[in-house]
Amino acid sequence: MELVVATTNAGKLREIRRLLAETGIEVLGLEDMGEFPQIVEDADTFSENARKKALTVARICNRLTLADDSGLEVPAIGNAPGVHSARYAGENATDSDNNRKLLAALDGLPREGRKARFRCTMALCEPDGACRFFTGTLDGLVLEAARGEGGFGYDPLFLVPEYGKSLAELSLDIKNRISHRGQALRQVAAHLQNRSDLPIPN
Ligand code: IMP
Repeated sequence: MELVVATTNAGKLREIRRLLAETGIEVLGLEDMGEFPQIVEDADTFSENARKKALTVARICNRLTLADDSGLEVPAIGNAPGVHSARYAGENATDSDNNRKLLAALDGLPREGRKARFRCTMALCEPDGACRFFTGTLDGLVLEAARGEGGFGYDPLFLVPEYGKSLAELSLDIKNRISHRGQALRQVAAHLQNRSDLPIPN
């Protein structure tokens, strides 16, 4: 079975490929599918943004397509950066720009104010417009300084209390076992393996 994954984020694609590798589902990245228009993620919710990405690509490729919209929510700052996580520090912000802005926003806050949650919503869309949604969350704390070299995005700042480590200090396999994306993706994989109405791949 083939599945197009509508993301240009290399970190996300790496995690999705690793997790689905065990299922026999073949992941096609956007780089396998030719040119695509820029998809503007301007919705207020993770699910709407995920639907927009998955559906746009599903219609262009005429294939079942999965998209992930995800981000970090920090209750002490009104659940920011939320759906704006990728562009928190501006339109062309890098991961380190975003991390710097987050550290500044939480400067001086004690442990209680540093509680945070990663959220991931995945949309699995057919070219005819039918979509299903799958979600996962991961609770933790925002550290006062970056730790670790792995992962992407806010991983170096996100402490997983059960491990006493940041997500960037954990292996990809452990991250996938516990993460918001791993949880959502296992539901996607179970759904794909149970359905019998899949189009026969070429
Ligand atoms: P999206 O492409 O709009 O879904 O952007 C998601 C953004 O949220 C990423 O660019 C990261 O900044 C952040 N993010 C989502 N998932 C993770 C994760 O697993 N680790 C670290 N940052 C993440």
